[in-house]
Amino acid sequence: MLISCKYRAYPDAATEARLNVALDTCRWLYNALLEECTTARETGIAPTMRGMQARIVTLKEENPFLKGVYSKVLQMVNYTLWSNIRALSQTKKKGRKIGKLRFKSASRYRTLNYNQSGFEIDRGHSSITFSKIGTIPFKMHRPYSGEVKGILITRSGDRWYVIIQTEQTVPASKCEGRSVGIDVGLNAFAVDSDGAVIENPRFYEHSLDRIRKLQQSIARKQRFSSNWKKAKGKLEKVYEHITSQKNDFLHKLSRRYVDTYATICVEDLNIKYLKENGKSRGLLRSIHSVSWGRFFSYLSYKAESAGTNFIQIDPRNTSQMCANCGSIVKKTLSDRVHECPYCGFVADRDYNAAVNIHRVGMEQPFEPVEPIPLHHVSVMQVLAMKQEAPPFRAG
Ligand SMILES: [Zn+2]
Repeated sequence: MLISCKYRAYPDAATEARLNVALDTCRWLYNALLEECTTARETGIAPTMRGMQARIVTLKEENPFLKGVYSKVLQMVNYTLWSNIRALSQTKKKGRKIGKLRFKSASRYRTLNYNQSGFEIDRGHSSITFSKIGTIPFKMHRPYSGEVKGILITRSGDRWYVIIQTEQTVPASKCEGRSVGIDVGLNAFAVDSDGAVIENPRFYEHSLDRIRKLQQSIARKQRFSSNWKKAKGKLEKVYEHITSQKNDFLHKLSRRYVDTYATICVEDLNIKYLKENGKSRGLLRSIHSVSWGRFFSYLSYKAESAGTNFIQIDPRNTSQMCANCGSIVKKTLSDRVHECPYCGFVADRDYNAAVNIHRVGMEQPFEPVEPIPLHHVSVMQVLAMKQEAPPFRAG
């Protein structure tokens, strides 16, 4: 399993200038390779990843400025281009009508990918020396572990980050800095950026028959009679049971997230509701919003005592924005699938939102999103999770 740890980096002015030149060179190469692929196709030749890899060598002779960038970084530009092309052709195979890959503008090209080589980490001085760039200090607020497979240098506004990718043989635990974005919704209770789909609990719906029968029996009895009181007591028990089931579910689910992740990103529900003010929300939504609010408050206080970061982000565009390329793809509540006409990225709409929530919360730039299979987590699975230690209560 590949784990990414992201750290703020502090290049000096001269190094920053070299980084910007390298980014611009990579962007130039990306667009040049894309153009050659398109031209080749138009003349009836199918371009290949290997062919383009070889083309980089001759392009370097024709354009000596390319030699200013570490060769493996240039190769990774081609790799990124081809993973975008593959994502696009997979969508085409499904018979969807989609556009072409776009040329990258300067603001869109923000990441240098040092894969396998070309870097040397000095943990003692918390700095990394990159071939053809220089030494960049970074703030290691949380140690990483495992074998380093690659490092990304990425620009976000005027900030720089290094993302250290390590190979983990054992399941990653919190201290290795795993982070997640969680989107709550009406279809599933939650979908997260690691592909878990948490089933919606329907405790109330499951007890509805029993509640109706008890309500009818209460209505038939004389008010304040002993039988009336008995029936009324039974109904209260059913409600209490539903409430405790729901709380048990929310406690166990939030515990699972806090125990697994070092950082948890969610939407700020207050801003979300403020924006929806005036629009009809419906009963279903208001019932759910109570659970979401409680889930977030459990996450928040459990996170605090466990040293986990809990980040609430502005929910603007989280569901409309393409997690892969950042384009706004308008959809209504009934559209279950996100399908980007600009880059071809296709994903479950809630998963797309969860990836956006994660990216915004972690202040990460757009990276190609690896399509991962979603896995379903049932209510029973959540309830079977480890019971947390009972809270200390006086008396
Ligand atoms: Zn897109």
